[in-house]
Amino acid sequence: MPNIPSNINGVTVEFSPHVNKDVDLNIINALRVIIKPTIVSGHNLNKIYISSANDQHKLPSRHVQGKGKAVDISRINGYKMSLFYPSNPLVKSIVDAIQINFENTPFRRENFGPHLKKKLGNNHPINGHGDHIHLSVN
Ligand SMILES: [Zn+2]
Repeated sequence: MPNIPSNINGVTVEFSPHVNKDVDLNIINALRVIIKPTIVSGHNLNKIYISSANDQHKLPSRHVQGKGKAVDISRINGYKMSLFYPSNPLVKSIVDAIQINFENTPFRRENFGPHLKKKLGNNHPINGHGDHIHLSVN
């Protein structure tokens, strides 16, 4: 499997030190569609922080079960979602746009975050995910 690149469409991708970047190509392709500097008008996306990819979650998480089919994004332009969502307009608008746009990617499966909690396009109530976006693919 390929590694998540450190730059997607001009947006810098930072990683938590323990992250295994080796993931399914479908998750990278989804990121290439949604992660771009112009994702929203009025704000520039220049950096995301991936706190988890093909690693460290316990089963039945898609991170492990699907063999690299999920990523967690926890910071936008260096701002931790745990501290700056929803109070910071840049963080809120970009997080919301990432989740909304992910729904339009071809292999989207789980889309859990502060704005949406969806699985295969359906509402899927789940605890947590106020401080990061979890995206997974089939
Ligand atoms: Zn996750």
